[in-house]
Amino acid sequence: AKLAGKNCIRFFHAAMDHAVAESAQLEQALRGAWDRDELSLSFQPIYDLANRRLVGAESLLRWTHPMLGVVPPTVFVAVAERSGLIESIGREVLHAACRAAADWHIAGTRPFVSVNVSALQLRKGDLVEEVQAALSASGLPAELLHLELTETSVMGDEAQVAVLVSRLRAIGVKIWLDDFGTGFSGLSHLRRVPVDGVKIDKSFVFDLLRDPDDLALTSAIIAMAHSLGFTVVAEGVESEAQFDLLRERGCDFAQGYWLGRPVPDAEFTAGHLEGR
Ligand code: C2E
Ligand code: CA
Ligand code: CA
Ligand code: CA
Repeated sequence: AKLAGKNCIRFFHAAMDHAVAESAQLEQALRGAWDRDELSLSFQPIYDLANRRLVGAESLLRWTHPMLGVVPPTVFVAVAERSGLIESIGREVLHAACRAAADWHIAGTRPFVSVNVSALQLRKGDLVEEVQAALSASGLPAELLHLELTETSVMGDEAQVAVLVSRLRAIGVKIWLDDFGTGFSGLSHLRRVPVDGVKIDKSFVFDLLRDPDDLALTSAIIAMAHSLGFTVVAEGVESEAQFDLLRERGCDFAQGYWLGRPVPDAEFTAGHLEGR
C-alpha cells in the first residue's frame, strides 16, 4: 500500500503538465466516489499538552481509487472545490464524522470530532441546517462537533462569515481557525470572526527547535490567542522535543505523527480510546 501511494504521488507530479485534462479526469472519477465506498474518513488524535490526555480527533478524508490508488487530499479536495463536488462530499463527511464520534467514549469524558469545512460550504448558505441535520441524525452533542475553517477561506468575507459562525456557536458547535499564521492577516480576523480557537500551521511547528523566528512567532501566536480567550492547537508535532517545547510555551493542545497518525475509525477506537 505504501509503494502504491508513492507511485501515485509520482504520477501526480508528472501529471502537473496536463493539469487541466487531469483535473477533468479526476473530477469524473470523483463523481459518485462516496457511493462506491472509495472515500472514507481517517481520524487523527488531538491531545491536551498539560496532562497528555486525548481530547478529540480531526477527521481527514481519504480517497482510494481502484486504478489510481491513494489520491492525496491536497490534490482531490482542490478538484472537489473547483467542480462544486465538495458540497455533496462535505455533507457526507459531516454526517460520517458525527456518526463516528457519537460512539466514542473514554472514562469520564468524550472526545470531540473536528471537521474541515471548505470555503465553498461556507458560502453556500445552508451550512447551519446541514450541521443541525448531522447532529440530530447521529445524536452527537453539539459541543462535540468542532469545525475547522481556514484563515484564507474566511478572508474577504469576514462580515458574512462572522454571522454564520455566530449561528453555529449559538447551537453549541465550536469553531477553529485552521492553518493559522499562513494567511498574513491573522490578528484582524481574530477581531472580526468570533472563533473558539486557532490551529497553528504545521509549517511553524516543523522548525520550532532550529528556527528562532518560528519559535518567536509560535510563542507570540499562543500569547495573543490566549489574551483573546482562544484555545490553541499546534499541528505537525513529530517529536517529543516539539511537544515539550509547546507545553512549556503554554500551548493547549497538540496533534501530529508523534502522538498518532490519521487512521480509520476502528483503529482509532482500538488505539486511542480503549484501555484508557
Ligand atoms: P489540514 O486541515 O491542515 O490537515 C492536517 C494535515 O496535516 C493532514 O494532511 C494530516 O495528515 C497532516 N499531518 C498531521 N500531523 C502531521 C505531522 O506530524 N507531520 C506531517 N508532515 N503532517 C501531518 P492530509 O490528511 O493529507 O490532508 C491535507 C489537507 O486536505 C488538509 O489539511 C485539509 O486542508 C484537506 N482535507 C482533508 N480532509 C478534508 C475534508 O474532509 N474536507 C475538506 N474541505 N478538506 C479536507
Ligand atoms: Ca484541518
Ligand atoms: Ca491545518
Ligand atoms: Ca494545511
